[in-house]
Amino acid sequence: MRSKPPIEAHHEQLTQRTIKRAPKVLLHDHLDGGLRPATVIELAAESGYRDLPTTDAAELGEWFVATASSGSLEDYLKTFAHTCGLMQSRDALVRVAAECAEDLAEDGVVYAEVRYAPELFCEGGLDLDTVVQAVQDGFDQGSRRAAERGFGIRIGTLLCAMRQNARSMEIAELAIRYRDVGVVGFDIAGPEAGFPPTRNLDAFEYLRQNNAHFTIHAGEAFGLPSIWEAIQHCGAERLGHGVSIVDDIKVAADGSVQLGRLASYVRDRRVPLEMCPSSNVQTGAARSIAEHPIGLLARLRFRVTVNTDNRLMSGCTVSSEFATLIEEFGYDWADLRWFTVNAMKSAFIGFDERLELINNVIKPSYAEILGEPPYDG
Ligand SMILES: [Zn+2]
Repeated sequence: MRSKPPIEAHHEQLTQRTIKRAPKVLLHDHLDGGLRPATVIELAAESGYRDLPTTDAAELGEWFVATASSGSLEDYLKTFAHTCGLMQSRDALVRVAAECAEDLAEDGVVYAEVRYAPELFCEGGLDLDTVVQAVQDGFDQGSRRAAERGFGIRIGTLLCAMRQNARSMEIAELAIRYRDVGVVGFDIAGPEAGFPPTRNLDAFEYLRQNNAHFTIHAGEAFGLPSIWEAIQHCGAERLGHGVSIVDDIKVAADGSVQLGRLASYVRDRRVPLEMCPSSNVQTGAARSIAEHPIGLLARLRFRVTVNTDNRLMSGCTVSSEFATLIEEFGYDWADLRWFTVNAMKSAFIGFDERLELINNVIKPSYAEILGEPPYDG
């Protein structure tokens, strides 16, 4: 009788290197928060930009992380003056988007939704349509280059309107105009306090009339009312961060848990939470990774996803973010698969495309890593 090799023999150690090889899905990543430090320096030299604190790539990378770690969302957002300042030409946008696609693909991300606010890139004279077309060209080029090196990635974009500006309707219309050529959804970003999502109700109304998808940054720097408005007034399908949903969950001394009505709604309706642990620690939305609500929310089986937010400002990748969570919460490969399938289910592309990635890419890979029988759908 032939004996089967023990299943354990197939188990891969969970290290950042092996995590990198496993397929991952990213739903919350900002284009202007993911530049390579070396590219920031080169773009500055090309355009005569003189405001960078240093021209050494390693030092600049550290400077971004340190400055973004000051503990408030407002200070964190100031670092974007440099990246946005350098993304004001067509060529710069193409390059940044192409490198973003390549970097994510090499990190093992098989599907990503990358977001940006087109209005931030119009200061050098570009119009909104040119911005969207340039970014799309960049993603196409980068995805092609990555595929040639054996890293397949599909990228959809989300167009953001800025909370403090009054252009959300215009950006929503832009998102609809490009919905069949790369744009898969809409979001609002920027300072949460003082700018409730309901200020943009007409844009959300318009998107819903057009059967379009949108997420809203909510519950990052502001509490439950922001989440409640985003879901119940605006109709957000997902929540950017959503950290403060824990304010509606009571954990008693004996460990028993009681969900309030909003937290119940979010869990019952499977509203995806686009959680970005490192970013949240930097802005003070969470005290540490160990105390980050993602631990409790994942344990309670909310639809939790793991994201980078801004790879440059947090000095992170999807793989490093997972490695950090594994260290703090002891997650295993099955947990990683759960987070990944959660994210894929929550993506804004069509059901058939999501299913294709889950059944043909994600599940077979994790079955192999876990030493399970070949996944046959
Ligand atoms: Zn964000």
